[in-house]
Amino acid sequence: MQHSEIKNRIAILIEEIELANKEYYIEENSSISDFEYDKKFTKLLELESKFPNLIVPNSPTQRVGNSPSSQFKQVLHESPMLSLSNVFSFEELEEWIKRTTKIISKDIFPLICELKIDGLAVSVKYENGSLIEASTRGNGSIGEDITNNIRTINSIPLRINSINKNKYDNFEARGEVYFPISKFISFNKERLNQGLNIYSNPRNSSSGSVRQLDPKETAKRPINIFFYSLLGSEGKEITNSHLKSLEILREIGLRTEKNFKKINNLEELKNYINYWSNSRKNLDYGTDGIVIKVDSLNLQKTLGNTGRTPRWATAFKFPPEVVETKLNKINFNVGRTGVLTPWADLQPVFIDGVKISKATLHNKDEIQRKDLRENDLVEIQRAGEVIPQILGVSKNNIRNINSKEFSFPRNCPDPCNSNLFSDPNEVSIICVNSSCPNKFERLLQYFTSKNCMDIEGLGKKICSILFKKNIIASLSEIYKLNEKKDELLSIEGFGELRINNLLLNIENSKNKPFSCLLTAFGIDGVGVEIAELITKKITNLKNFEEKTQTPEELKEILIGIDGVGPIVAGNIIKWVNQKGNIKLINCFLELKIGSEIKKIVHSTTNLENKTFVITGTFEILKRNDIEDLIKNNGGKVVNKVSKNTDYLILGNNPGSKLLDAQNNNIKIMNIDDLKILIPEIESKF
Ligand SMILES: [Zn+2]
Repeated sequence: MQHSEIKNRIAILIEEIELANKEYYIEENSSISDFEYDKKFTKLLELESKFPNLIVPNSPTQRVGNSPSSQFKQVLHESPMLSLSNVFSFEELEEWIKRTTKIISKDIFPLICELKIDGLAVSVKYENGSLIEASTRGNGSIGEDITNNIRTINSIPLRINSINKNKYDNFEARGEVYFPISKFISFNKERLNQGLNIYSNPRNSSSGSVRQLDPKETAKRPINIFFYSLLGSEGKEITNSHLKSLEILREIGLRTEKNFKKINNLEELKNYINYWSNSRKNLDYGTDGIVIKVDSLNLQKTLGNTGRTPRWATAFKFPPEVVETKLNKINFNVGRTGVLTPWADLQPVFIDGVKISKATLHNKDEIQRKDLRENDLVEIQRAGEVIPQILGVSKNNIRNINSKEFSFPRNCPDPCNSNLFSDPNEVSIICVNSSCPNKFERLLQYFTSKNCMDIEGLGKKICSILFKKNIIASLSEIYKLNEKKDELLSIEGFGELRINNLLLNIENSKNKPFSCLLTAFGIDGVGVEIAELITKKITNLKNFEEKTQTPEELKEILIGIDGVGPIVAGNIIKWVNQKGNIKLINCFLELKIGSEIKKIVHSTTNLENKTFVITGTFEILKRNDIEDLIKNNGGKVVNKVSKNTDYLILGNNPGSKLLDAQNNNIKIMNIDDLKILIPEIESKF
């Protein structure tokens, strides 16, 4: 084949594929089979791979292929992308019509009604019939350049259909990218199978899909688009009627939602709204209202805008969808502080394309106020992105004779079973067992976090693993991890070095002051600040343990502390009344955790100009204390051994620093040697 012949062949194939796309996506009526389509596509790919210099950027094979960008470029909208005003009732709608009619002193009908698609507004520009730029709405004036991502949506032509090429080839079209509900459900199912997070709703995921930095990611998502507005380039008008512009969009191969309608009077308008308010649940895309526009573009111009909203259009918003379903069971989540939050296990039901099988019940009060009972038929509503809520028992609910008012559990759910307490306001119920398996994972994550015991290497994820593998089942077991090295080694990513570092960090955390430990217990209401206030009065764990033997007295002391109220004091008393918690305190005392902050005030200049490195663990003194001791007596403590190091202080289980010191001929000493250097403070030990 001649070069020009091949070029011609490619051009014909592209045109045939474009036409087939238009039939498939726009007219929903293909004249060729999938098989034939694939054959043409494969042939095109084949020719292009043989003659890469003949690949045109708008070939249907070139939808994906641009490399990821690190950020989106900004795009200035030629005419701003406005947002619509809303009306929420027929009264408000009639008001809007009256107001608008008054401005132009003539009838504003016909109006064009369209379904308002729940997705992401975008603008797509064509020049000489080719797609050249696509952008998000952004703030209305400046959006983000998403051209490479928009190209991956198969229903958007990269070139507008050749038949119309000469008629309309320079224009801007605006539309809404959306995630079809059926595709959203299967997409989430797939993600779940792959162990990935699922997306909360189709709207957010359509927006997320378009805003991927890597177009390949966008291409994986089955998003689609409806166009709803057509603008000529440089403000030139293509037609004088909005209805006509919707027809042109379709004609040139840009997909429109087909349920738009020309409306001639108020009655028709109400009928249209009522019809779609009920029928929208049968659509494969989310709609949250009806867009109502004045048809005549001349009238639109006369009406103009107020700020960022046009006077010639408004959106009638549907009330949130309410559906009925059965409340199977009332369950409880146990939070970190032990507060039980009730939630409803529902017979699965779809609202706005999202399968709902759970709803929050907030607290005890709400269940009682609404008299919700297991097996009731209830009404639920999902307003925007909020987790669905139960509005109440349905009018259609029929209770059988055995239906009983919901009774709250007296014990924490299995496997904890500890007694539960009510808070003083009787709103929430609390499990105060610090080893409660229902809350333990979250408590463990909290215990090791920055404001608490600050154990580096025991982040949220590792805590979850240790909890799930049953390596740590109570807080004190953190400090026994050194006996479980084999089990730690079995965790992916854990090697000897990492484990030793972790154990060292755990050991060092023992030096944390009592206020950190008290915070770390996770008692409801006892955060960092309250813990610090308390530990000014009750300075260490031993002190605290002694006081727990007379809870009434302890309560008095706590209430006497400025800033600690009776509720927090009450929570602490409930906590210490749990046997398991007293056991925990004793474990920590044995481990010598929870001492008061020691201030070594003694200072000399004995260690002036001397540099120390510390390695290993120490029995009586804590590492921080040793550091303070050296610093207070004029010495310097550094982390790494070098030629400039004078002494290595050696503890138990030393690390690699010992070898470094030996190699560098650094003098090695133990704590007793250090005491000899500072005889003045010997009595302190
Ligand atoms: Zn519990």
